[in-house]
Amino acid sequence: MPARSRRNSAVVRIGNVHVGGSHPIVVQSMTNTDTADSATTVNQVMALARAGSELVRVTVNTDEAAQAVPTIVSTLRDFGVDVPIIGDFHYNGHLLLKKYPACARALAKYRINPGNVNIGRKQDDNFRIMIEAAIEYDRPVRIGVNWGSLDSALLTQMMDDNSKSPDPLDAMEVTRRAIVESALRSAENAERYGLAHDKIILSAKVSNVQDLVDVYEMLASRCDYPLHLGLTEAGLGSKGIVATTAALSVLLQQGIGDTIRASLTPLPNGDRTEEVVVSQQILQALNLRSFTPQVAACPGCGRTTSTFFQDMADQIQTYLREQMPVWREKYTGVEEMKVAVMGCVVNGPGESKHADIGISLPGTFEKPVAPVYIDGKLSTTLRGDGIVAEFRDILDNYVARRYAKAIADSEPLALLER
Ligand code: SF4
Repeated sequence: MPARSRRNSAVVRIGNVHVGGSHPIVVQSMTNTDTADSATTVNQVMALARAGSELVRVTVNTDEAAQAVPTIVSTLRDFGVDVPIIGDFHYNGHLLLKKYPACARALAKYRINPGNVNIGRKQDDNFRIMIEAAIEYDRPVRIGVNWGSLDSALLTQMMDDNSKSPDPLDAMEVTRRAIVESALRSAENAERYGLAHDKIILSAKVSNVQDLVDVYEMLASRCDYPLHLGLTEAGLGSKGIVATTAALSVLLQQGIGDTIRASLTPLPNGDRTEEVVVSQQILQALNLRSFTPQVAACPGCGRTTSTFFQDMADQIQTYLREQMPVWREKYTGVEEMKVAVMGCVVNGPGESKHADIGISLPGTFEKPVAPVYIDGKLSTTLRGDGIVAEFRDILDNYVARRYAKAIADSEPLALLER
């Protein structure tokens, strides 16, 4: 079933990236370094950008962090990394943006949490100060509601109103509605304070899959602001990945969502770039975007007595991902290539023929040979200890031949257009 057409949202520009409308759904991520430690933060931003993150958010929570932001951004630019950097503000964003104009200027977008910017105040003047900074520096904002820090005054009011209703809703439904209401009212206020409609992105994150779907369906039906999707506090390992995928897929399939983030908890010293890969894989699995060639590999069974083909599938997938920063620049369309690494003759040749390039390894009791299929036809048969290296060479040649041709074809046109 093809994905439904995208909801017709406004378009917001963040640095050199467009979010919304018919623009590709943008992958973003967030650092978990101490922003005040600019060297470590620069390194992590570079790793995230290299993995394919198109926007990167950093915490701006202290004077030191705000002071480090201009250095972080200028160092990234010196290294040729132009990914827009977004400031994540809570509680004191109004103070930091006012006190550190160089920070306000260096950031490409401000994230405002309406649930904690005005705590203990009757007026929303702190929120207003942040909006005025966005207007002054011509920056967009994300109004990011999170149910863990939902505006308690609004929730209390809505709970009170609900309790007086002749047909009261359950508390969770009131909470979902309060989350949506908080985002929409804040956006309305931001526009009343002078921020342009196309400078606002909304998010309304919860940590339960069904609640997230309900909240975003409600939000999407009530506004045309671009929506940032993410299941907050998704968690560790497979639980976090599966829950994020389940929630985001349901929404993306309905055309809801203009930028996504997978809020995974990495293991201690784990790789932060995993959240980028997961977001890319979700979009690629739904045929919404392509980022890296995909490897189809069978799960293996009793017909395979060694882990050789699993190792090979892993090595090939890793190799493809590692080549992508270079291939992306050099070749056209290589990210859509399909590769198969199969364990035996049962489905091996068939799956390999469906791929652009595939190899069918020998299963138990099969002749120790590995036929390679290119564009659906048997091309060669590999044998011996050097199968992985030989298959990689075949892959390199195939990529250079097939995808470089597209560049060569487009050159005369490009010259004519100049
Ligand atoms: S292709 Fe062969 S080895 Fe792989 S799962 Fe199927 S039967 Fe088992």
